[in-house]
Amino acid sequence: MPRKNPAIFKNLNSEKNGTTAEEVVTRLRDMIHSGELRSGDKLPPERDLAKSLGVSRPTLRAGIRSLSTVGILQSRQGAGTFVAAAEDSPTLDGSPLRMLSALHGFTSDEMFEARLALEMSIAGLAAERATSEHVTLMAEEIAGMYASLDAPEQYLVHDMQFHQTVAAASGNRILTSLMNMVATILFDSRSKTVKRARDLKESAEQHHNIYRAMRERDAEAARRAMHDHLVETQKAQRLEELETANPSSKNGKKK
Ligand SMILES: [Zn+2]
Repeated sequence: MPRKNPAIFKNLNSEKNGTTAEEVVTRLRDMIHSGELRSGDKLPPERDLAKSLGVSRPTLRAGIRSLSTVGILQSRQGAGTFVAAAEDSPTLDGSPLRMLSALHGFTSDEMFEARLALEMSIAGLAAERATSEHVTLMAEEIAGMYASLDAPEQYLVHDMQFHQTVAAASGNRILTSLMNMVATILFDSRSKTVKRARDLKESAEQHHNIYRAMRERDAEAARRAMHDHLVETQKAQRLEELETANPSSKNGKKK
């Protein structure tokens, strides 16, 4: 239920003419921090909210869009806009990073380096903290990988879910969100080349090494296995990209 004109609405009216979407973002965030808006709450109707904030509807919409992108608000078709429920783990999709990447021309090497740093930390924590449920889920994803060695797209889904399970097992939602943001972009580009993958079996074995370290609660081995896996993944992806760009070339023959 929309509460009536919380005090926090007042100041926007008095702000000088340059009320931007960013200020809308700040104001809505403040309302969430102060508890005026709680998780699961529905935002007041757009017209009322724009009026109480003293902004135009397009400005309000832009602010809401930004907060939706980072998973703080959720727009549900036909139902309105809601504050994300607290129990949902924050879902940063790739879009802010994608936009930054387009603006600044981040290279895929930088993306990989970021993923490596994040996932090695995550693997170390997960080895110490994974519950037996997490470990079982990891094993299931690995079984899925072995079952789809001949279906690369399917394989990639299990691959992604395995990494998400490890991230969940790390118990750090910040690292998990950051990892998801980076990994989503890398998995997206991988999905365009993965049908040319060789050695998916080798990749499945690398996941198995990570899994084994988790089961043995060996943080250092988990970090190392994750490192080796990601380095090999980057090599594989490069080869696939080369072949996709240049289908006739037969480079990258099997060892
Ligand atoms: Zn993987």
